[in-house]
Amino acid sequence: MFEVRGYAVQSPTSPLAPFTFSRREPGDHDVQIEIAYCGVCHSDIHQARDEWGGSIYPMVPGHEIVGRVTSVGREVTKLKVGDVAGVGCMVDSCRTCPNCKRGLEQHCQNHLSLTYNSTEQDRKTPTFGGYSSQIVVDERFTLTVSPMLPPDRVAPLLCAGITTYSPLKRWKTGTGHGVGVLGLGGLGHMAVKIAAAMGAEVTVLSGSRSKQADAIRLGAHEFALTSDAATTAGLAGRFDLIIDTVSAPHDLTAQLNSLKTGGTLVLVGASPKPLEVSAPALILNRRTLAGSLIGGIQETQELLDFCAKKNVLADVEVIPMKDINDAYERMIKGDVRYRFVIDLKTL
Ligand code: NAP
Ligand code: ZN
Ligand code: ZN
Repeated sequence: MFEVRGYAVQSPTSPLAPFTFSRREPGDHDVQIEIAYCGVCHSDIHQARDEWGGSIYPMVPGHEIVGRVTSVGREVTKLKVGDVAGVGCMVDSCRTCPNCKRGLEQHCQNHLSLTYNSTEQDRKTPTFGGYSSQIVVDERFTLTVSPMLPPDRVAPLLCAGITTYSPLKRWKTGTGHGVGVLGLGGLGHMAVKIAAAMGAEVTVLSGSRSKQADAIRLGAHEFALTSDAATTAGLAGRFDLIIDTVSAPHDLTAQLNSLKTGGTLVLVGASPKPLEVSAPALILNRRTLAGSLIGGIQETQELLDFCAKKNVLADVEVIPMKDINDAYERMIKGDVRYRFVIDLKTL
């Protein structure tokens, strides 16, 4: 074991503060990474504050990790010392169940080891995330990142990127498709960029008038203020697909009504409280309400390669570690353009 510095929360109400803990020495299949940058996801806030229930403390959040490989086990073939590596929301899974076998590790039917607020495959050893100086991960759960790309702007692809890419891909987004993106935060801004890169006609559906110019700059064709009833009514029957990234309870009726016949609204935003659904809004025009959870490891690599090819990167505000508590408050207010990323050199 070796000592690692990080930031942790000790309870649902305590702020993030310096914390020292141990990680395992790299085994034969492990990669040791010196973390350069870690993105700040709204899921970090939900879990640090136990909004979903079942949080494990102390908790070191962070699952949008990019850094340099400093050591590899002797069986490792994917990465070598000096390479740039990424780690997303998962650090292990059973690897044998039907879902693991078909690349859907995020839906492991036995035990998924999330990057933090979870346990290793022994179901006992706690996992600690990327608000820390180093991490040790089995090579199967690492991603390779091009050294040509700015690592701070790549980090958010490891969660916000894959979480929006996966449903866009699954619903076959392509040229001319009408895609609505509800909520323009970390996930939302990646959904806009990725859907536009796939050729879709993107509309941002936002509660913040101040984000209108940014929406267009990010690649949207249109901006609609969700609080304006006339604007929303004018979108009736418009979209093939809506990616809903909102982090809090909200009404889905207007959004469902803006889907075409047979259209789908995919929830990726994980409101801690239940949402209400209007039956007629689904039944009329036989619409679908769906959900999606991050993406598998192979699909995450595909997303990273897609973004490298299409020059899709996150818009980030790099912060020192000590500003993390302020960053959480700003995210809760919707005041982020469009992802906070921690510079771990400042730890
Ligand atoms: P974020 O950066 O805070 O963005 C959320 C956006 O939702 C805000 O910028 C705001 O956009 C809108 N919003 C916030 N509160 C709202 C409210 N009360 N009513 C209406 N709109 C509201 O968060 P994020 O990191 O993108 O994460 C978004 C959600 O996705 C979180 O719940 C997170 O846990 C979840 N998530 C899910 C997965 C998955 O695998 N499914 C993966 C990662 C994250 P506007 O200002 O434009 O309205
Ligand atoms: Zn996340
Ligand atoms: Zn499994």
